[in-house]
Amino acid sequence: MDKHEILKKYFGYSQFRKGQETLIDAVLSGRDVLGVMPTGAGKSLCYQIPALLFPGITLVISPLISLMKDQVQSLNQAGIHAAYINSSLTENQIAKALKLAAKGTYKIIYVAPERLETYGFLEFARHAEISMLTVDEAHCISQWGQDFRPSYLKIVRFMQELDKRPIVSAFTATATENVQEDIICVLGLQEPEFLVTGFDRSNLYFAVETPKKKDDYVLDYIKDHPGDSGIIYCATRKSTDSLYEKMQADGILPAKYHAGLGKEERRENQEDFVYDRRPVMVATNAFGMGIDKSNVRYVIHYNMPQSLENYYQEAGRAGRDGEPSECILLYSPQDIMINQFLIENKEPNPEFTREELAAIQERDAERLRIMNYYCLTSNCLRAYILNYFGERGKETCQNCSNCQKEFVETDMTEEAVEIISCVKELRGRYGINVAAGTLAGARRAKLLEYGMEACKSYGRLSKLGEPKIKRLINQMLVEGYLDSTKDKYALLKLAARTDELTEGIGKFTLKEAEQLPQPERKQDSASGNRRKSDILNSRGLELFDRLRSLRSEIARQEALPPYIIFSDKTLVDMCVRLPFGRQEMLEVNGVGEHKFQKYGEPFLREIREYTGEEKEKLYFGDLEEASRYGRKQGKPSGGKAKTAKADFFLTRNQAGQFPYAQKYLAPELGEKLNELRDPEWVKKTSGAEIIRRSQELGLSEEKAANGMRYRVVTEKGEEAGLFLGTRISKKGTEYEDIYYGEKAQRMVVEWFISP
Ligand code: ADP
Repeated sequence: MDKHEILKKYFGYSQFRKGQETLIDAVLSGRDVLGVMPTGAGKSLCYQIPALLFPGITLVISPLISLMKDQVQSLNQAGIHAAYINSSLTENQIAKALKLAAKGTYKIIYVAPERLETYGFLEFARHAEISMLTVDEAHCISQWGQDFRPSYLKIVRFMQELDKRPIVSAFTATATENVQEDIICVLGLQEPEFLVTGFDRSNLYFAVETPKKKDDYVLDYIKDHPGDSGIIYCATRKSTDSLYEKMQADGILPAKYHAGLGKEERRENQEDFVYDRRPVMVATNAFGMGIDKSNVRYVIHYNMPQSLENYYQEAGRAGRDGEPSECILLYSPQDIMINQFLIENKEPNPEFTREELAAIQERDAERLRIMNYYCLTSNCLRAYILNYFGERGKETCQNCSNCQKEFVETDMTEEAVEIISCVKELRGRYGINVAAGTLAGARRAKLLEYGMEACKSYGRLSKLGEPKIKRLINQMLVEGYLDSTKDKYALLKLAARTDELTEGIGKFTLKEAEQLPQPERKQDSASGNRRKSDILNSRGLELFDRLRSLRSEIARQEALPPYIIFSDKTLVDMCVRLPFGRQEMLEVNGVGEHKFQKYGEPFLREIREYTGEEKEKLYFGDLEEASRYGRKQGKPSGGKAKTAKADFFLTRNQAGQFPYAQKYLAPELGEKLNELRDPEWVKKTSGAEIIRRSQELGLSEEKAANGMRYRVVTEKGEEAGLFLGTRISKKGTEYEDIYYGEKAQRMVVEWFISP
């Protein structure tokens, strides 16, 4: 078998992705490699395919126990013999695994770095034929990286213990140039094939939002994306708990994860999320390392993280399957203070000296500053990230919140100079709140108590209002025109660049967004970056839903995460191609032979049953476009993509979630129905539509008397559960309107269920 046959047979794919083939070929020719590719690019295949072609064993060093389990499960599902050896196994299990490994049972063995120096493992390794050593998450070996793991240095000593040096392949998603050099040098890679594919994740939409009420934003977002899987990251355990409770009170049942929970509880919650039993996770950044869930549709940061490295890594957990997904950061200026506090109170790592710790603190402060810039910049967010990782690309991406905003630039140098005068006057004794209050001329008891009324600066910027003054001060802090003490009080002081403004050398501009109304922006982003399932028409979506349910059923029986069975993308491709037999099913993107044997039949049965074995077209556009779309990462081909939305309808599953109540007016009923639909591809219904249909069916009538129009319920309507009730108008007069009781609500929901 060659690499192409393996790709198809075991993984079900017909083409390599960018970079994969280069690395695979290099390894197969006996060379070391270093692959730097973003999350979701397909690094695993780069060592898994050669591993199957080599005579001996491939050892994969990975720091993440949970990831090992996931990878091994996936490989076993694909029919490849693999195992993992780490501390989640008992000594007995490890001994057993090593015995089987020594017999050559496994082609691929995942192992934690700590394990490498244990006697049992070394014994095994010295006698086995090890063709390749793969170092996953290779940046962990570098002291420059944010995830340095001293245990990774054991890899080097381990290699020295072996009689024959295996080929070494190293992979990482996050590596600045320093880190890349470190990996090559510390691991001793010999003239490696070195491949850096772009860091860009074109399927991700980036946004920074500053909602007044973050909680409401999050709750609305989740409700607007029913059924989607997403992660909400909070800065602290406390805010995680509090958001979790608010979600529960609002009828959303998320999973929760932070270091304050017991080990068992964390494991259970993580599984609930991974297995889609609870598709939304609210967590601190303790969650996520090694989570390989491919269908995460959004990652919302409730607070700004501490560095852009952390942000890109956490946000990057969205859309690993290449489908459009959203990364939204909810920013508020207090986030800087929270993070400063967290940085200062970090538990010092005992492995570092005092000088090293001081250097690390300084580096952390610098990273935080860069992160904060990200939130304040009015330039393209993607370009900002890519630049930071050393990649110069386009200046605009049209797929981030800044590229979709219009900005107004205002020269604020004079105001900035006023602020500087105020800071001088306060002589380093107060923070941003007092300074902004003073400049705004606020009459807060505290300010009066401090005697601020007597300051020259008092009320000097009252025309701007306090929030805007705060925004200016923050931006001045970020740009180095002001500074603050590093303690939690963050008292304002002058900075190195202050003079540039006071001496008239520099200019200070504020760029403010003129935001488009929310719905318009949403549609824009959806049309620019549609999901794979958007190409299905309503019949297609119904089938997609059925296949998803079938997958969940099988996942439950086999105790596997659903996406390990088939990805969403593969299910959509089934809906497009409608395979009725084995050969046709093997054409589907993501169906390999082994998976076909395990799961092919039930899916074929479902498809045959749904279609009555009649080929029909369940997608928009032509087949070539539809399947090309499936293979492509990220954006569909520009303007050609279809954006037509289907008329309002519900799938059975969606209908099952309708919140029945004692009574609703028609417009309320319409609203509740709309909340269940997928807003990206289904149009809204309305109260008017429900009234119109009710009248058509003879359930209600419109009458006119004395120049007034009013509606009445017919006998048939009464039977169906409609009734008249009294309402009071804004002016205070009573009038009658038609309510829909629970029975009537059931009837209306039924109207809209797609056949
Ligand atoms: P990484 O380790 O780089 O984050 P993975 O190896 O987990 O990425 O791959 C991400 C996803 O892409 C997986 O679902 C994988 O099966 C899929 N994938 C990898 N290579 C290909 C390919 N050539 N064609 C289609 N899908 C692929």
